[in-house]
Amino acid sequence: MNTIEKDQTYIAGTYARFPVEIVKGKGSVAFGADGKEYIDMGAGIAVNTFGYADQVYNEAVTKQLNAFQHTSNLYYSAPMADLAEALVQKSALKKVFFANSGAEANECAIKTARKWGVEHKGEGAYNIVTLLSSFHGRTVTTLSATGQEVFHKHFDPFTKGFAYTPANDIEALTSLVDDKTCAVMVEFVQGEGGVNVLDPAFVQALFALKKQKNFLVIADEVQTGNGRTGHYFAYQAFGVLPDIVTTAKGLGGGLPIGACLFGEQTADVLGKGDHGSTFGGNPVAAAGALSVVKRLNDDFLAEVKKKGEYIKERLQGAEGVVSVDGMGLMLGVQTQADAKKVVTNCINKGVLFLTAKDKIRLLPALNIPYSLLDRALAALKQAVKEEL
Ligand SMILES: *Cc1c(COP(=O)(O)O)cnc(C)c1O
Repeated sequence: MNTIEKDQTYIAGTYARFPVEIVKGKGSVAFGADGKEYIDMGAGIAVNTFGYADQVYNEAVTKQLNAFQHTSNLYYSAPMADLAEALVQKSALKKVFFANSGAEANECAIKTARKWGVEHKGEGAYNIVTLLSSFHGRTVTTLSATGQEVFHKHFDPFTKGFAYTPANDIEALTSLVDDKTCAVMVEFVQGEGGVNVLDPAFVQALFALKKQKNFLVIADEVQTGNGRTGHYFAYQAFGVLPDIVTTAKGLGGGLPIGACLFGEQTADVLGKGDHGSTFGGNPVAAAGALSVVKRLNDDFLAEVKKKGEYIKERLQGAEGVVSVDGMGLMLGVQTQADAKKVVTNCINKGVLFLTAKDKIRLLPALNIPYSLLDRALAALKQAVKEEL
């Protein structure tokens, strides 16, 4: 059996995979088992922040791997402490809990908000409001937090305590929040929900309401964090400071890690024994992540913004392109043609794109060179025309 046959025989059928097997990568180019080269505009869904086989990243990871690959959270280790310090400096929050994925980071945020609710608003103040088009993960509780109805099938009973409201509807949000609300959880740019940037007026109203009604704001920056939007975190573009920030995907640069960051009001909510993770903050993943965070300085972030504008300029007004939404290198392209068909067409042209709802989604490595962007955009424009 070849890999594709073996996969289809032995791996649970949860993924609708494209017929591409990756065997190697360098920068923003992936090499297929078929001998073809692919420009990777998805970066493993916003994970490979500096692309494949990046020298700085690989050196940081292998150095730690050769020192020690794991220790339990019963002992101290430098990569984790250094990474926490770096994240606190980037975020202006206070403390960090490390997990292994986005869903786990969100679980931590939800537990923290619930404990804060009971302690500050009283028994039963465990309700969390999320947005209808949100995505927060695949565990039973983070599925419950996810507002998209399509995720609320098959797996009853779901965790109670979540209510959903449409994005950018200030009135609906205001009427949902009450003395039993411990938190409102949002993605400042919704990823899986179709690359929707929150309306700044809605964000301002949310933080005004927070002052008035006393609840926490949780920013799910699992996809938007770590330079993706041209800001270290997307909330920084809105001039607000959430109480809890979760992140994962691009933080690890390729290895699994998640983080839940706590602000002034939440830094001391979780105490000894309240939460934990065997692998959380793994030293190899943390060493890689630290090398990622260190490289995301202001000059680099400005370059991410510039690349995003460059892409928008080249796609807006192109034949068959309806709109381009998003920030930095997190972009969603609405086309007249069917998104799935365009993506399949692009694979044949040697470019890997993602979709989000009915849009084509771009999440390339943040250091993708302009020459590859030009080739990927030319293929996309051509495919959009062909699939019209
Ligand atoms: C991907 C994603 C998650 C889930 O992360 P996993 O690492 O797959 O558990 C949660 N929230 C957002 C916004 C995401 O994009």
